[in-house]
Order: sequence, then structure tokens, then C-alpha cells
Amino acid sequence: MARTRLACRECHHINGPDSQSCDHCGSSSLTEDWAGYVVITHPEESEIAVEMNVTEPGGYALKVR
Ligand SMILES: [Zn+2]
Repeated sequence: MARTRLACRECHHINGPDSQSCDHCGSSSLTEDWAGYVVITHPEESEIAVEMNVTEPGGYALKVR
């Protein structure tokens, strides 16, 4: 069974299940409690990316609790 990956509460970046801190922003505020995986390839052209303040391409959680 795949283990739950960890979403960053600060930037919503999705990190590996064993991550201690966010690969993207360095925050240690990671949670398994997230929903809605989105891959953003062109942040500058994406309304979702603008709404989420995403500037780097990658995988992100739509909702982080
Ligand atoms: Zn982060």
C-alpha cells in the first residue's frame, strides 16, 4: 500500500512520505491531511497557481487542513 505523501501547510507543495521538511520552501509544517493533487507545469499561465501563490512547477495539494 502506498504511503501518504505529505503536503506543506505553507506552500502546498507535495513531499515524499518520509520528508521532514518541505523540498520547496523548507518549512517543517507538513501534514498527511490534504486533498486534491494538482500538477502545475506553467504557474504563470495557471489561475489555480496564482490563487495558491505557486511560482514553481510541481505537484501541489489543493486543500491542506
Ligand atoms: Zn513548502
